[in-house]
Amino acid sequence: MPELPEVETTVRKISPGLLGKVITEIACDWPRMLRPGLRVARGQAIGRKVTGVRRRGKFAVIELGGEGAAIVIHLRMSGRLDVVPAGRGAGKHVHVRIGLRGGMELRFEDARKFGRVVVTTSAAELLRDVGVEPLSDEFVPSALANLIRGRARQLKPLLLDQSVVSGLGNIYTDESLHRARLHPLQRSDRLNDKEVVRLHAAIRETLAEGIASNGASIDWAYPGGSMQDRFRVYGRAGLPCGQCGSEIRRIVVGQRGTHFCPVCQRRGRS
Ligand SMILES: [Zn+2]
Repeated sequence: MPELPEVETTVRKISPGLLGKVITEIACDWPRMLRPGLRVARGQAIGRKVTGVRRRGKFAVIELGGEGAAIVIHLRMSGRLDVVPAGRGAGKHVHVRIGLRGGMELRFEDARKFGRVVVTTSAAELLRDVGVEPLSDEFVPSALANLIRGRARQLKPLLLDQSVVSGLGNIYTDESLHRARLHPLQRSDRLNDKEVVRLHAAIRETLAEGIASNGASIDWAYPGGSMQDRFRVYGRAGLPCGQCGSEIRRIVVGQRGTHFCPVCQRRGRS
């Protein structure tokens, strides 16, 4: 599933083809994917100009004018976005097509159909519950301390919670916790100051490395990234830890496969 670095890479890829273009059409062959429905979505978007393309958490936000109107897209499991010539043949998994004046179109391709495309008059309202942006200036160690110490939760599920810190999924959470030398089951309210500072730095460094690598390509859904070649623990169960040589372990936490080094990430260690 695409996480912050993969969505950021996608946004950077589609942005040049979208900026300044006027929406001319929205077509959709899978109604559940498009909200609030084709007719209303068309009414809200057609004739409007794309004024910005950005990422918020794991969402791509295509801004339409300055009043908050936007097309907000979540790629979920297998979504892909591309700006291509409108006349080019489309594969059977292209379910939403957004026409642009000048002959190009934005295509949303999604084999598993879990992705969502929402046309909204207020992106801020739609995304109001999305947690702090971990690469933003407001994400400082004291902010992270406030977010996690007020909750007595295990670190792994807490970091996956998009209403706390946005953008982290299974891969970048496991990678961040290894970098921070923190056990995935450690309770968040028991972290000391040094550990919070380590976790804060680890999250930012891991995400920055992911973006610099154009994200991670671990299956057919997201090609082109190279972060998978730099994984410390994710998908490496049974292989040696690059820091200490111990065998990486895999456990299941909240139904998610979780990878960690039992020596570098001792529980309760400070
Ligand atoms: Zn280790």
